Amino acid sequence: MNYTIAVIPGDGIGPDIIDETVKVLDAVGSACGHRFTYEQLLAGGAAIDKVGTPLPEKTLEVCRNSDSVLLGSVGGPAWDHLGGAMRPEAALLGLRSGLGLYANLRPAVLYPQLSGACPLKQTKVEGGLDIMVVRELTGGIYFGKRGRTGEKAFDTMEYSVDEVQRIALTAFDIAMKRSRRVVSVDKANILETSRLWRETVKEVSKGYPEVELSHMYVDNAAMQLIWNPKQFDVIVTSNMFGDILSDEASMITGSIGMLPSASLRKDKFGMYEPIHGSAPDIAGTDRANPIAAVLSAAMMLRYSFSLSREADIIENAVSKVLDGPWRTADIMSEGMTLVGTRKMGELISQHIS
Ligand code: NAD
Repeated sequence: MNYTIAVIPGDGIGPDIIDETVKVLDAVGSACGHRFTYEQLLAGGAAIDKVGTPLPEKTLEVCRNSDSVLLGSVGGPAWDHLGGAMRPEAALLGLRSGLGLYANLRPAVLYPQLSGACPLKQTKVEGGLDIMVVRELTGGIYFGKRGRTGEKAFDTMEYSVDEVQRIALTAFDIAMKRSRRVVSVDKANILETSRLWRETVKEVSKGYPEVELSHMYVDNAAMQLIWNPKQFDVIVTSNMFGDILSDEASMITGSIGMLPSASLRKDKFGMYEPIHGSAPDIAGTDRANPIAAVLSAAMMLRYSFSLSREADIIENAVSKVLDGPWRTADIMSEGMTLVGTRKMGELISQHIS
């Protein structure tokens, strides 16, 4: 099959990690008989410098007409003096809302080979960790009416049944492909939106009798993630709670350069990007870890193209490389061999078969 991918390298280490990711995609394409066609696009600081806006209309249009989007990262000190809609990060919000991406998937995976990077006691993460946070991305308090009057300020949180239904369906569909367990996180003891959330998730769960659903208050969930992270498989939650919990879950793995993400809509179209930023401190020095971007491409194959076998091939290649001594600086430990961005990309490509 032929797939067209809109590629937005962005700023800082974005171009470095995306170069390696494209090489890995090409390796899996030739091993499995697929063709990936890329169109390179501008967004973020690179777009501001070239065309004076963080998200050119052409970028959005080409993304809309592609099968999926692969993004590096945007932002950096060169554009920090710019305000609001002119900041590079405005491109991210524009892409998410312009493409209707309402479901944010953030896997927090601790590879057993890197268990030393986990800040928790080893007994709590024995054998690794694999949690999928499914966060609602286009509703809730980040999108509600807000304002100020004199000494007061307010933000409003709204959710409709439709918005909760569609994110719950995403979570249950994913759980069906994993351990069939969903924890829905809310604050239903206080918030009316959370009561609607809980009722709706329960309704949706009736269509998935094989999936075990439980509910947890957000304060407890924040505690349980530290206390006993292995109890979680899929967590589904609202925009703000998901923002906070997904960062917490990812930090348990201790390695920002390893974690991918996907933002999806109903028809499987998605935008895939590492969770880290543009790391201006190491941009262009061949020191960035490309694994988060490479694993984002694996998610693209799995969720947008339904190429699960090919996604497994990439993930296994990463795991095999980590079985060896090679480490980029962010995941380096004693006795291991330090490699750069390009060498890590090359090693992963070589392990694709
Ligand atoms: P950051 O994630 O860019 O960097 C934090 C630290 O992690 C730095 O020390 C960096 O060197 C390191 N790091 C990040 N990714 C790495 C990788 N792949 N390999 C090795 N080390 C890595 O966060 P920040 O410094 O807060 O932000 C820098 C810029 O990125 C800012 O302009 C911010 O707005 C932007 N940002 C963009 C995105 C995005 O594009 N989705 C996300 C977060 C931040």
